[in-house]
Amino acid sequence: MGYNKENFIRIRREFEQKHLKAKQSASERLEELHSKIPELRDIDAALSETSSKIVRAIVGGGDIEFELEKLRLENKQLQNSRAACLRYHGFSPDYTSVKYECAECDDTGFVGTKVCGCMKRELILAEYESSGIGQLMKSQSFDTFSLEYYREDRRIYENMQNILTVCREYAEKFGTDTGENLLFIGPTGLGKTHLSTSIARRVIDRAFNVVYDTAQNIFADFEYDRFSRSSNETPGERVSKYFDSELLILDDLGTELTNQFTISCLYNLVNTRINTGRAMIINTNLDQSELNKRYSDRITSRLFGEFRPLMFRGRDVRQQKLMK
Ligand SMILES: [Zn+2]
Repeated sequence: MGYNKENFIRIRREFEQKHLKAKQSASERLEELHSKIPELRDIDAALSETSSKIVRAIVGGGDIEFELEKLRLENKQLQNSRAACLRYHGFSPDYTSVKYECAECDDTGFVGTKVCGCMKRELILAEYESSGIGQLMKSQSFDTFSLEYYREDRRIYENMQNILTVCREYAEKFGTDTGENLLFIGPTGLGKTHLSTSIARRVIDRAFNVVYDTAQNIFADFEYDRFSRSSNETPGERVSKYFDSELLILDDLGTELTNQFTISCLYNLVNTRINTGRAMIINTNLDQSELNKRYSDRITSRLFGEFRPLMFRGRDVRQQKLMK
């Protein structure tokens, strides 16, 4: 999946700085300790001699194996005394080593020539930043999802508890199983969007590509691609992300202006993703009979055959919050 060029340049620069900063603060810690603990400074001076001693052993013409083994032991002893010295003064043995946030890429953002998962995550989040979904993702997570609003009725509570468990597991296991699809069904205000954004956030954190948008926006892109695309745009350019992303979340199915064109786009999208093993989450306020009425049989048979339906029940959480 392609990334926005400006975001890429900005984030790559941020990673370069993060990498440098980690090195710099390690050397500051080292300097600080060298000035406080002269013994440590002496040990480090001796350790830094090791490489030139190795060179001397190799060119010296003596018994190279013997000399190298001696140096290896010497080095090990120095490392041990260094650790002991740090511990004695109340520091952990790795106190002066460089501490990167990401052990995979040492905060460079790259593993070889590949973009590291940690940078991929930043790139995906940056794409969302200016959108409404991006704002939602900041505030809505599994941690902020409360079951309190479903307590009135035991069956409703247990149903939501079960849905929450399914969604958490889905997000945690995403990518390790064969792209399960979820279908959230139920009236507005019961947490469908909250749980969708929570899944999106968690799956992005786990460095997968997630595309999340409303049915309205998604179909508007398909219409644009088909009817209004300018001559310098490649056919399919605007909609390829809906097919390629590792997870597609289609919010509010049924709020778009449905016509033959959008219906065939939806079928194509759902069908292609199923055939290529790419997971999808669809949420809708329509119930099964409304879905049947609005979309063709071949779509609803796909939805009910290939998606795991989760029925949201209860009293509008937003209204309950307003009444408090
Ligand atoms: Zn990384």
